[in-house]
Amino acid sequence: MSQTKETIGQYQEINSLQGVSLFSATDYKIYYDKSQKAKKRIKELIGGQNRLYFKVDSTEANKIQLDREFKSALRAEYKNRFGFDSGFFQLARMMQNSKSVVGNRHNSGKKLTKVINSDPLLGPDVVLMYSQIKNEFTTPESYLIISIDPYDFVTMGVGQGWATCYKPLGEHYSGSFSVGLDNYTFLTYIVTKNPDTQEYIKVPLKKIYRRLGVFSKEYDGVVLSTQYPYKNNGFEEFTLNTLEGLFFNDGPEVERKHSSDIKVYKTRMSQIYNDFTLAPSNKKENLYLGYKKEKEILSYGTAMNCISCHKGLASSYLPICTQCEDDLLEDADWGMFK
Ligand SMILES: [Zn+2]
Repeated sequence: MSQTKETIGQYQEINSLQGVSLFSATDYKIYYDKSQKAKKRIKELIGGQNRLYFKVDSTEANKIQLDREFKSALRAEYKNRFGFDSGFFQLARMMQNSKSVVGNRHNSGKKLTKVINSDPLLGPDVVLMYSQIKNEFTTPESYLIISIDPYDFVTMGVGQGWATCYKPLGEHYSGSFSVGLDNYTFLTYIVTKNPDTQEYIKVPLKKIYRRLGVFSKEYDGVVLSTQYPYKNNGFEEFTLNTLEGLFFNDGPEVERKHSSDIKVYKTRMSQIYNDFTLAPSNKKENLYLGYKKEKEILSYGTAMNCISCHKGLASSYLPICTQCEDDLLEDADWGMFK
């Protein structure tokens, strides 16, 4: 089982994200191969590659979302610079009365910046703030990536400006390995730069949204988890259309539904945190997409053994067992866990 340039590169990047080495490059290669074997069926469904990507259409829904994010950035920056004063509410009202805030179009037909400039509560300082923030909000090109790349699972808790409990050394870090080893789970995520022009190992680290999909046993439906770090309606629509076209394009009636009749449970003893049943109810987004069916229980995650000695069950926070952890800490400089 020889390592490849690819797995060595991934292994080094993982070590640098962990800030400490928990297992060897050979251990990583073994995990990598097991994961590829486990995802064989999904890999066939996405054309024999580890990642498949699509350029996101700049849909209307996408623009609405962008406008919402821009407004929220403006409000936050206003508070930051000028405080929570009457100008804040004046600006909020003006934004509400604008066709497009990021597009600088006020409902009166004037430019929004012109309206802001002539308002005694706001004026040129706020126009300047507007222009500065707008620079960060030029409509980004986005790409949807569907992935079963073993490395993308390991790094699924890390994104551009956000992290979850699956992040390296996070509370449920080994959940990311556990889910990389089951037969049913894949990742969907969005990046804002063309993946072709990016270094392969940096691509998943730049994701702005991430979401898990779990296939049913017959691969005739999927349940999608909540989008992290927050929901984006434009991407939601694009993702569902893409998955439907890719996986469910030649059969009986396809449905999309939120229903408690189709459930996802974690495999017993699996280290995965159950995104589908344990998330706070306002965060739960379990959406079924696939051929029409009444009831089914899907399962995800594997009960993963230590990635290093392969004997004991890995703990939930590290992909190694407690024995290996003890051995590691005995040799270690404690400072490295800071
Ligand atoms: Zn061990």
